[in-house]
Amino acid sequence: MGDRRNDPVVVIGLGRFGSSLALELVRQGTEVMAIDHRPKVVQSLAGQLPHVVTADSTDPHALDQLGVPDFYRAVVAIGSDIEASILTASILSELEIDDIWAKAISRQHGRILNRVGAHHVVFPEHDMGERVAHLVGGRMLDYMEVDENFALVKTRPPRDYVGVPLGESNLRRKYGVTIVAVKPPGEEFTYVGSETVLAYGDVIIVSGKTQQIERFTDLP
Ligand code: ADP
Repeated sequence: MGDRRNDPVVVIGLGRFGSSLALELVRQGTEVMAIDHRPKVVQSLAGQLPHVVTADSTDPHALDQLGVPDFYRAVVAIGSDIEASILTASILSELEIDDIWAKAISRQHGRILNRVGAHHVVFPEHDMGERVAHLVGGRMLDYMEVDENFALVKTRPPRDYVGVPLGESNLRRKYGVTIVAVKPPGEEFTYVGSETVLAYGDVIIVSGKTQQIERFTDLP
């Protein structure tokens, strides 16, 4: 199978999540067919999305007529109407769409989506809530969980790690985290080495297990 990143994508459900997703895909140069059953929503996006249509995605006949079976990839971006979300995902699965993505609003919803044939389930509200909690609660300037228990964080160096070469800081042994890059004020990010000395005002990127990063960023 070749590189399918630029294959056209069907986006179903154009609420806040689905419409942002469809608009961003179009901005990136991907061809998108966007579907929503509310004519008003479709009208309001018609100027920005080249292919946006009114249809009920729980109707297999409607999807068939739109040519959905020919698509390699589809995203079910219906959240609040769980029944419509699950029905849509299962119809896409029956249509043998190769790569089905679906948004879930709860773990249970996610499990059912997986069971009816979604290949990837995302939890945007949940994930964003966690991320914002890290930003609101502490010293992190940005936070991204890259796997269940592994994160990349943008933060400032704790007091004790300013002015010492990183090679002498014992950081990995003490906290289990690795500083990956540093950005002094007004400069760009560069990778760090064992000889790098951090200063107040620097911004750093740290990687490590979530709990260890939390311990590290709690340091004064
Ligand atoms: P968000 O939280 O991202 O705004 P919503 O769940 O509120 O997500 O929005 C889902 C969108 O999906 C709405 O615009 C709604 O009209 C659309 N939708 C819901 N059910 C169907 C369906 N059966 N067919 C097509 N679109 C649907």
